[in-house]
Amino acid sequence: MTAHVRQFKCLDDNFGVLVHDPETGATAAIDVPEAGPVLAELAAAKWNLTEILVTHRHKDHVGGIPEVRAKYPNVRVIVPHAEADQIEGDNIKAHEGDVIRVGRLAAKVIETPGHTVGHIVYWFEDESLLFAGDTLFAMGCGRVFETPADVMWNSLMKIAALPPETQLYCGHEYTLSNGRFALTIEPGNELLQARMKEVAALRDAGKFTLPCTLAIEFATNPFLRAEEDEIRRTVGMPNADVVDVFAEVRQRKNKF
Ligand code: ZN
Ligand code: FE
Repeated sequence: MTAHVRQFKCLDDNFGVLVHDPETGATAAIDVPEAGPVLAELAAAKWNLTEILVTHRHKDHVGGIPEVRAKYPNVRVIVPHAEADQIEGDNIKAHEGDVIRVGRLAAKVIETPGHTVGHIVYWFEDESLLFAGDTLFAMGCGRVFETPADVMWNSLMKIAALPPETQLYCGHEYTLSNGRFALTIEPGNELLQARMKEVAALRDAGKFTLPCTLAIEFATNPFLRAEEDEIRRTVGMPNADVVDVFAEVRQRKNKF
């Protein structure tokens, strides 16, 4: 592990994240919800921004790019190819399997359509880091705005295939409310109960709840656990297809 990561608050509940390669000095921002905190964090760390890795086109993930670009005119901005038309600027289009270099660090692009049609996540395999944008949250997942449920389910299963020790970074600090919902779906999950106590304590102390490992997500995130008997019982779908169970859990979260 050589990458240095700084995570900080942007807007109301978005995360800004910087990933830095100390050997070359290269630094990537994962999305730019707003320019101010990203520029301030770069200045505080004395890091030079070389890349912006965009997960999806929503305003709360790209809104600060023009102002940051004005300060760093040579920054390379990587965007999902399917949403490139909707993100301003002369950007680099990323496809499934592309490897994006940040100095000596390497991020693999994984397409995870669902929250938006073009959403991508960035997996720094050698560093065990995943930047999941609004596809996967701690104990939650993004709203499925633009695709059928099975598309989002397949995207989540691509993430579930990554190593459990992977450190997960997300687009938003939604953990507490996600966990409250998760408890309504799987109230008997003891790991979930324990995690909620830890999460509540972190928030009380004014701390972030991320990153976490994918392992803890596999154990507590209802959107990755649609196969579980208790979840199937809760939603009254003991024999349904797993995608239908997932879709029902997502529907319930929308109304929660
Ligand atoms: Zn979004
Ligand atoms: Fe978002």
